[in-house]
Amino acid sequence: MKQYSYFAGGNWHEPASGQWLDSENPALGEAWARIPDCGTEDVDRAVGEAHACFYRGPWGKAQAAERGRLLRRIGDVISANAERLGEIETRDNGKLPQHITPSLTSWLTDSFYYYAGMCDKFEGSLLPSEAPDMLNYLAWKPFGVCALITAWNSPLGVLIWKLAPALAAGNAVVVKPSEYASASTLELMDVLGDADLPDGLINVVTGYGRTAGQALVSHPGVSMVSFTGGIPGGRSIAELAARQVKPVVMELGGKSPQIVLEDADLDLAVNGIVSGIFPVSGQSCISGSRLLVARPLFETFCERLVEVASRARIGDPGDPATQIGPIAHRAHYEKILDDIGQVVEAGGELLLDGRGKGPDRGYYIGPTIFSGVSHDERLAQEEVFGPVAVVIPFDSEDEAVAMANGTVYGLAAGIWSRDVNKAIRMAESIQAGTVYINNYFNATTQSPVGGWKQSGYGRENGIEGMRCFMQTKSVWLATRPSQPDPFPAR
Ligand code: NAP
Repeated sequence: MKQYSYFAGGNWHEPASGQWLDSENPALGEAWARIPDCGTEDVDRAVGEAHACFYRGPWGKAQAAERGRLLRRIGDVISANAERLGEIETRDNGKLPQHITPSLTSWLTDSFYYYAGMCDKFEGSLLPSEAPDMLNYLAWKPFGVCALITAWNSPLGVLIWKLAPALAAGNAVVVKPSEYASASTLELMDVLGDADLPDGLINVVTGYGRTAGQALVSHPGVSMVSFTGGIPGGRSIAELAARQVKPVVMELGGKSPQIVLEDADLDLAVNGIVSGIFPVSGQSCISGSRLLVARPLFETFCERLVEVASRARIGDPGDPATQIGPIAHRAHYEKILDDIGQVVEAGGELLLDGRGKGPDRGYYIGPTIFSGVSHDERLAQEEVFGPVAVVIPFDSEDEAVAMANGTVYGLAAGIWSRDVNKAIRMAESIQAGTVYINNYFNATTQSPVGGWKQSGYGRENGIEGMRCFMQTKSVWLATRPSQPDPFPAR
């Protein structure tokens, strides 16, 4: 079995506890690697190394163009090692190779090139001032050391969206991947040995959120936290960070609605909706799993949806014929089965049952579709983060919008209609960080993503994504210095 160490200050270290945690291959349901169970001492070392790199080492003084060159090298190295990194991610969390390896040579690595280009173009400003004989300029500065805490569903993708802008902004970082899928992040540090990084620039600690994660968030040497995960973890991290008034970016969950209007192109909508949830087993934050369908279309839509979703080939990610792989880990697999069981018990109508589909070994659940569930029930209100969709009819556009906005989430939404004016009007009323019209699931480095309401705050990608890793400094210079005596003698 492969045994990993954690990475700090340019070197690999064994955890102070002497303990490791098993990491499972969900396609087989068996452990294949061991990752360090890091604690306070290890986190302290990693933050110390990041601190030294930023405050005493070369990084804090690096010129913008030099940062850009370093980001380009990182992009090149990741792209050259895409296959190896993809294989590890597939083994560790069951993601299909076709969903990870090509991204590592294209839009994910493009993040590094995009932000590399931005390093020496990110300008401050000279501010107009009412104060006479004063020059006032605004500069954008890095925080120093940032903590990047990532989820298991797409470990490298989630990390890259944070890492590229954090480094471009000039920070050093400490990464804490999910205990369920840390291997690809550790392998990334191995391949980045070829990128000639300053020691301590990127450090990775592994282990539990409640130990390593909390130690990292509350470490006084960490000045900012960027978190991707669920609402409970996010809430706990935000509370912990608040004790030190530490800024946080929260990329949290969703229960994204897909509104199918009566005039929708049905084939387009069904294909788009199925693609927007099932190929990744619903394990994507923006999975559009709440399907709101115009009543006249409801029966036909459900038939077509079931027909397309039930064609999926569920199997081992290593088989090129596989179209849907396993659920990423055992605890989540059991949670999804439990969620499905509860809906069945409460009287939900199963249009398609994914239980028992796929290979016998491993954690497989096929596309599962419910109707007969009202919008205030748990299935329509809470994220399952699995291959489970619910179809609910609506009678008017107003009702569709009210339902779409009727959860605590606000991450993404889809609208399917041939009437673009109507779709745009609806998009304006939807409370979500991203709205797709007649498409779903697109994302590019240029386009900021993030949540409204309890789906989070702060943004990733685009210029906004870089600003989240920076703070402003307003500098005042007296061009004709004069300072009257504040307490003139009488
Ligand atoms: P999670 O349980 O919240 O964990 C996310 C990360 O935070 C893990 O590294 C976890 O460590 C750590 N963590 C959890 N509680 C913590 C705490 N109290 N203090 C410090 N660290 C803590 O989420 P997940 O199950 O990995 O991911 C699924 C969720 O992520 C879903 O809700 C999904 O929608 C969301 N997500 C959002 C986006 C987005 O961009 N908005 C993208 C992807 C996923 P351990 O796992 O090691 O305990």
